[in-house]
Order: sequence, then C-alpha cells, then structure tokens
Amino acid sequence: MLIVMTSDATETDIWRVVETIESLGFKAHPMPGANRTAIGLTGNQGAIDPAPFAELPGVAECVRVTKPYKLVGRDLKHDKTVIRVGEAEIGDEFAMIAGVCAVESREQTMSTAEVVAEMGCKWFRGGAFKPRTSPYAFQGLAEEGLKILSDARDKFGLRIVTEAVDEPAVDLVEKYADVIQIGTRNMQNFSLLRRAGQARKPVLLKRGMSSTLEEFLLAAEYIMSEGNYQVILCERGVRTFGNHSRFTPDLSVIPAAQRLSHLPIVFDPSHSTGNRETVIPMARAAVAAGADGLLVDVHPYPERALCDGPQALLFDMFRDLVAQARAIADVIRHQKEAYQVGAYG
Ligand code: PEP
Ligand code: MN
Repeated sequence: MLIVMTSDATETDIWRVVETIESLGFKAHPMPGANRTAIGLTGNQGAIDPAPFAELPGVAECVRVTKPYKLVGRDLKHDKTVIRVGEAEIGDEFAMIAGVCAVESREQTMSTAEVVAEMGCKWFRGGAFKPRTSPYAFQGLAEEGLKILSDARDKFGLRIVTEAVDEPAVDLVEKYADVIQIGTRNMQNFSLLRRAGQARKPVLLKRGMSSTLEEFLLAAEYIMSEGNYQVILCERGVRTFGNHSRFTPDLSVIPAAQRLSHLPIVFDPSHSTGNRETVIPMARAAVAAGADGLLVDVHPYPERALCDGPQALLFDMFRDLVAQARAIADVIRHQKEAYQVGAYG
C-alpha cells in the first residue's frame, strides 16, 4: 500500500504514519517528492486495511498498489530519482561513466582515469572482481584493484563505480568505492541484492541478459525493499538469435523503464555489443532514446587487455564519443524543455 501525504503534512505527521506502519510489523519507506511525501508500506502478504492510516493527520489518501513492484514504481514517487555523490550525479544531467573493464595495473588504470577526467567526466568504472565465464580467465585484482581505484579517485577527483560479485565483495566495495555495481549474471542473486540494499552507497544494477523488464524492476525492488533507494538501472544487452553482436542492445527498454519507474537508467554499449566499432553508434542511439548516461569501457592498449579488449575504446575514440554524446544529450534536453514532453518523450 501507498500512503500519500498532503502537501502541507509536517515531519511529525510523516513520522506518526511511519510509527503506525512499524507498530503493525510492516516496513515503512518514506519517499519525499517535489510536492508531497508518499510512504510505501511493504512486508504484508495480503491486502491491508487502510483504516489505521486514513484518519491520521496529514494523510491525503491510501492507495493499493497493484503492480508487483511497489518502491521502484512511479505510483510511489513521480519525480525522477537523482543519484548524487559529491559533485557527480546521475539522473539529471547526462552522465558518462567510463573506465577500464578490469583494473589490470596501476599504470593502465591511472592513464585511463586521466583521460576520463580530462574530458570533464565525473565517474570512473573499473572491475576489481570480474565475473568470468571461464574459471581460468583473469578474475581481477580484488582488494589491490580497489586500492588502485581509490587512488584514481583521490588523484583525479573521480567517483568510482565497481562490481561486487558476492557478499564479502560488497563489504570491500563499500569501503573503497562510491557505487556498487551488480552484474548481469547476478541480477537475480537475491541474497546479494538484499546485501546491496543494506549498503549505504548507491547501487548500479545491470539487467540480466535474459530478463524481462518486470524481472529487472523486481530486482531493483529487492535492493530498495531493504531501505537503499539509490539505485541506477543499466541496460547491457540481452540474448537473441542474432550473432553479429555479442548481445543485442535493447534500447526499447530505456523509455519503457522510464515510464514505469522513477529510477535513472544508463546504457552500456561496450558489453552489449562486444565490439568497439559498434560502441559509438549504439551509444548515440541510446542517448537519443533518453538514456540518463552511458557506461563505457576504455583501454590504453586494448590488444593487450586481460578482459574484453575487443570492445574497449581507444582514447581518441572515447574523446569523440564524449563530444557526440554531449551534443545529442543537449538536443534531447532542449527538445524536452521546449515541448514539455514526458519523461519518456
Ligand atoms: C562489467 O561491466 O564489467 C561487466 C562484467 O558487465 P556485465 O555484468 O554487463 O557483463
Ligand atoms: Mn567487461
């Protein structure tokens, strides 16, 4: 259920509703919006009687949420969620999250971070824990890799996005990085999602390579149901019969997710195509489709990369991509302002 407060409800009114929800053994999720706060109620197995809430001061209405997801949906929070870490943000201005696929060495990571920072980007990606198809492939530098990422943040003022492949890795990623990435192979690892939901840092959730939009949103709901509302969705390509591309970038999920959810959604053209020649065209298309940002692999010498070299952009290609993506994002922003179209227009 969703309890919508009046626009003049006080903090005390909100707190009273939260207390009432908790006294009944349920969980309360207050979501402040531009005009009013709505409070999500979860933990109930069946329908709930709205009577204990309907008469409380400051309550405008109690709404039954019929969708399977409650907290990710626009019923609870109409305004878009903006993720902020210091100066860096995702969900308002177009965001570029770029860096190495895997942290392989200090020199490889630092030289890439320097270019990312030079281009005025605020977010840096890099894997210290790599989920590899083969157990014999490079699995990442683990904590040593996180220390290199943390040094890149200190040196270049970048915010770090990095993957946690299991629950012990979440502890480490929380300690060293700014955003916890959950990879496509773990999108339905429910205990990992719950653990990420208990973290104090934002979570970038990649879409499972065979998941529907509803499954994707329900995975985000797992994180939010634990009280972490800072979730960024990421489309990274799905499995189809096509074999001209590593995965098929499903750009149609971008407006569809934005219509149903207030969460920002970014697109990963690198893992979805697996081929650097296709990265820039698909990235342009995603920005035109309204993506809130891009997540891109870059490498100083991709032919020697230990992971995903064929998809990594060379530095000059990356510079071109940033310029092109910003130009398209500006057009989309102006068009939205001029015509006042919806979030998905
Ligand atoms: C990654 O971003 O490094 C990665 C492994 O991506 P995915 O989970 O989408 O394959
Ligand atoms: Mn990769």
